[in-house]
Amino acid sequence: MDRNLNYIAGRWMPPESGTYYQTRNPARPAEVLGEFPCSTEADVDHALAAADSARTIWASTPAPQRAAMLVRFSQLLADSQSELARIVTLEQGKALQESTGEVARASSEASFSAGEALRLCGNTFPSERPGFTCYTTLEPLGVVAAITPWNFPVVAPVRKIVPALACGNTVVLKPASLTPWSAVHITKLAEKAGLPAGVLNLVIGPGRTVGDRLVSDPRVRGISFTGSTTVGARINECASRRMVKVQLELGGKNPAIVLDCDDLDEAAHEIVAAAFLCSGQRCTALSRVLVEESLGDDLVERLRLRILNIRIGNGLDPNNTMGPLVSREQMDTVARYVSVGKEGGAKLVLGGHSLVKDAEQEGYFYAATLFDHVESDSPLALDEIFGPVLPVIRVRNAEEAFRIANSTRYGLAAALFTRNRHLVHEFLRHVECGMAHINHGTASQAHIPFGGVKDSGQGAFSIGPTVKDAFTNIKTVYVKA
Ligand code: NDP
Repeated sequence: MDRNLNYIAGRWMPPESGTYYQTRNPARPAEVLGEFPCSTEADVDHALAAADSARTIWASTPAPQRAAMLVRFSQLLADSQSELARIVTLEQGKALQESTGEVARASSEASFSAGEALRLCGNTFPSERPGFTCYTTLEPLGVVAAITPWNFPVVAPVRKIVPALACGNTVVLKPASLTPWSAVHITKLAEKAGLPAGVLNLVIGPGRTVGDRLVSDPRVRGISFTGSTTVGARINECASRRMVKVQLELGGKNPAIVLDCDDLDEAAHEIVAAAFLCSGQRCTALSRVLVEESLGDDLVERLRLRILNIRIGNGLDPNNTMGPLVSREQMDTVARYVSVGKEGGAKLVLGGHSLVKDAEQEGYFYAATLFDHVESDSPLALDEIFGPVLPVIRVRNAEEAFRIANSTRYGLAAALFTRNRHLVHEFLRHVECGMAHINHGTASQAHIPFGGVKDSGQGAFSIGPTVKDAFTNIKTVYVKA
């Protein structure tokens, strides 16, 4: 079993505490995967000192050189696809084909964002006064804290590290405690790509200490966070006291609305894929279906048949298409919501139970679950469950569907399945979300803005050209000469 270290100032360092914790395979929790640092504030302090002292030299490294290193990093990610995908499946649980796709996606995003270093363009302005030249430049923020979740242990860190570095910032990465192995591997690739010491630092440890210290340290001038709305809101509060720029990618309760639809089979196919990938542990998962009454029975039957095709088991087995939940805690949360659904009178169509007798021995496997006739104000319909549970809500018409779609605290993604062009435009006008999809699930692309509104975050600044808005400040220049 490997003992892993933090990466600070270009060196692999043990934590000041001298203590380590073990991570386990969620498909076989008795299997220990590795030992990782229990870092403390002292380690954060060292990492911040390193990032702070590297920031001037990195910001003044010519942009094409920064881009070249990051392109190299993107290539190294692609080259290590199978090794890294295996790590993701071992520590996160998702099916190997999903992990493989995640690494490919991270590489594509990295390759696009690396190029942003060459597109850090300002504007020029005509002057009110003669003899003046007026323009803006995009300046790095300084040190950026990147705090990432366990559901996408490769994409989430890469989505933060690469754009932040392309924009000339230095980074301290704190990965989720459940999935630090991927972060160690990514950091080794960044080291191999030739990033100078201190430009990227990795500190592994609990959110309550390492994360908390990171977001409150005055040297940190930018924070990029993906995770729960509760922690995101706390970080936002803390950052706003120091006027620090924050990029937040938070939870979702994404509706699939089915109205006047003539291809229910295709709709069911898209919905099931988007709902159960990563065992439903995705912020953009389709996590509720709003269907007009006349199509309800037909759609539910097609959803049921599609869900029956999902093969649940150890993600390393290529025949399996859905792995375990990431932890006992996630499994208990899912079970709790399923009980609430049953007690609340929703009709359980499929699943609704654990697939194992002893989860600590056999893994955190939970059946793909479908509820019908769910009330629109029930916890199943309103809360982010973050598991393989799909509630179906029957609606009378489009007006009711759009009202219910907007009735949660979240506003990340939404999908409409219809053949009716008028409804498409009505939906696009009314839906409160960052990403709207017509006739397909909630799959995003590697170079297109991504993010949410309301309690899902502060806009689409996670991928695509908008990352520059998150990771730079505008400097306005007046030259009288
Ligand atoms: P958290 O929001 O607690 O964790 C996300 C990241 O934040 C982790 O790296 C975590 O560290 C860190 N963190 C935790 N507390 C703090 C803090 N006080 N200051 C700074 N950083 C902190 O999510 P959970 O893992 O607890 O998952 C709970 C729920 O959150 C899920 O059920 C789901 O609903 C939602 N979620 C949403 C995600 C999304 O993609 N939008 C991703 C993950 C979760 P550590 O791992 O050490 O606790």
